[in-house]
Amino acid sequence: MSTAILEKFLIDYVEASEVEAELIDEGTYTVLYGVESTIKTVTFEIEVAKESNQVELFLPGSIFFDTVIRDAMAKGSMCATYLSGFQTVTKVIQSESMRTFSFVDYGKDGTKKIEPRISPFQPYNFRIWTFAFKVRVTTDIIEDHLYTVSIDARTLKVVKNFIEYLGKFQHLPHYEEDITDYHPQDFQRYYQSALECVKQKLTSLIVRKKQEATDLKLKETARIKKYYDTLNEEMEDALERKAGDHEAVSEIQSKQKAILVQRQSALGDIVFRYKMSADMSLVSVLVTNYPCYVSKASVPSTLQPSGYDIIWNPLFKRFEPLTCPTCKNQSYTTNFLRTGIRCQNCFENS
Ligand SMILES: [Zn+2]
Repeated sequence: MSTAILEKFLIDYVEASEVEAELIDEGTYTVLYGVESTIKTVTFEIEVAKESNQVELFLPGSIFFDTVIRDAMAKGSMCATYLSGFQTVTKVIQSESMRTFSFVDYGKDGTKKIEPRISPFQPYNFRIWTFAFKVRVTTDIIEDHLYTVSIDARTLKVVKNFIEYLGKFQHLPHYEEDITDYHPQDFQRYYQSALECVKQKLTSLIVRKKQEATDLKLKETARIKKYYDTLNEEMEDALERKAGDHEAVSEIQSKQKAILVQRQSALGDIVFRYKMSADMSLVSVLVTNYPCYVSKASVPSTLQPSGYDIIWNPLFKRFEPLTCPTCKNQSYTTNFLRTGIRCQNCFENS
């Protein structure tokens, strides 16, 4: 097995922990590690580790390796993938785009279809952020649920079942050639969108779990009450039978008192046992980079000349619709009117 991937992992881990790793010999590093920043010497070479007991082996199964893996997993993980292997002929998308989008002018010369001027399609880097959250629901048992949400970095919308798409494409550690980012990155906004989405999904889970816990609590309370009531009835019977015997009566009465105390504490335990709590934590983040083809289209409307980005998405094999400035819905038709720019839907309803 090549240890290159483990070496890269160790360096990435050390850098992410904002400490230092220094290569001292091929496959051997000194690492500043832990809260107290102790210096450790680790190696990927079995022979080196055999020679000196000051040098620790960093391979699966070694103590330090397991510690690092555990720590990295507790901190959550983030990785990036670059999709490749799309067959895109820009000339074809160029002519397809002419058929897909339509721009219509409702100026004083009457209704006229406008031919946009479009620049050649160029690749830009687009991203989809996939967040995995673990939700732990605790009642009398502990249940873990995993939720994954993919957010389109351009629209901040949820991309449904995106993970299923990933298997269909070729993955690279980076692009073979430089591709410019389409827009600046804003992690906070993607994370917020993902969080909102998971919270909505969680609402029904929590309502269900609360109901389950309440049902169990009621059932258990009834069982315990019945148990102690039966016990008490037996005591009452005994009291009747032994009415003349002073000593026996006081013994039974003190038993009854003890039973009452036990009953209270058993009922108190139930309240505690079926109390529900839910915790959510971020487990991992996957950034999927993929090239989209973008053309700058200028639409020479007599009413309001405008510019648009026409985007061909090779992942979903479609052109991205434009956003209507009036109703904010997505559309492939843009109408220029004296009252403003409208998609077909809000044009027909106006
Ligand atoms: Zn509209």
